[in-house]
Amino acid sequence: MTESSETCDNAIPISSVIQAYRCPRRFYFSRHDKIVSTGRYTICKQISLNIVHPPDEDALWDEICLIEPTINPDMREYLSHCLVSTAHTPLPTWTDSDIAVNSKRYGIYGQIDKYDAQSGSISVIRNSGSPSKGCWSDDRIRLAAYLLCLRESRGIDLSGGYVEYIPDGIVRYYEPQPRDRRGLIQALVLARKVLSGNLPAKPVHAPCTRCTYQKQCNPEKPTLLSHILFKKR
Ligand code: SF4
Repeated sequence: MTESSETCDNAIPISSVIQAYRCPRRFYFSRHDKIVSTGRYTICKQISLNIVHPPDEDALWDEICLIEPTINPDMREYLSHCLVSTAHTPLPTWTDSDIAVNSKRYGIYGQIDKYDAQSGSISVIRNSGSPSKGCWSDDRIRLAAYLLCLRESRGIDLSGGYVEYIPDGIVRYYEPQPRDRRGLIQALVLARKVLSGNLPAKPVHAPCTRCTYQKQCNPEKPTLLSHILFKKR
C-alpha cells in the first residue's frame, strides 16, 4: 500500500508502524532499504477495484502492466490464482479509493484502499493469505490506525472495516478492540525509537525463522583476547 504524506511534520506512515509492530529490530535494519514491489499488491488491488466481477483476465493483466510496467511476467500465474479464489467472493463495493487520512494527534498517516459512502465502510486489501478465523494481528492494528485517522481527518466515525485476503478469496469484517489500539500505541512508540536511531531489544515473539536480518541481529560474540592468551593447554 502506498501512502501520501499530506500531514504534520515528523509524521510516520502507518506501514512503518506496522513494521515496527511485527519486529522493531527488523524495522531498524530495513529502514533504509529500497522497497521493491513484487507486483502482488497491485494485482490484488486491481482485482478488488474492478467493477466487473469476475473480471476479464487478459484485460486486467494489461491494466496491471500499465500500472506497474516492471512487473515480472511470471506474476500472471499469481493473477490467475487470485481470480480463481475470488470468483465466487462478493468483494465489498466502493465509491472512493486511496483516501489519504492522517492523525495530527498521533502523528501518523496512510491511505485507505476503499471507502463506500453508501454503506459507510472501508476495506483494506491484502496480498497475503487469511488466518483460519478473524484477521491477523497486524491487520487488526492497521484497521485501528485507519479508523482513527479517518475519524480525525475526515470526520467519518466507523467502528470497523473489512480486510480482503484476495489470494484466499476471503473477506473478514473486524471491529478493533482495546488490545488493538494498545498495540498501535506501543508500535508507534517503538517506530519513533527506531526512527530516532535506537535499536530496540529483541521481542519475545519475534518472527525470526524467515528473517533476512538474522546475522545483523545476532552478531557472533567477538572472541575475547584474554580467552586466546590464557587458554588452558
Ligand atoms: S532475527 Fe528476529 S528479532 Fe532479529 S530482526 Fe529478525 S525477526 Fe527481528
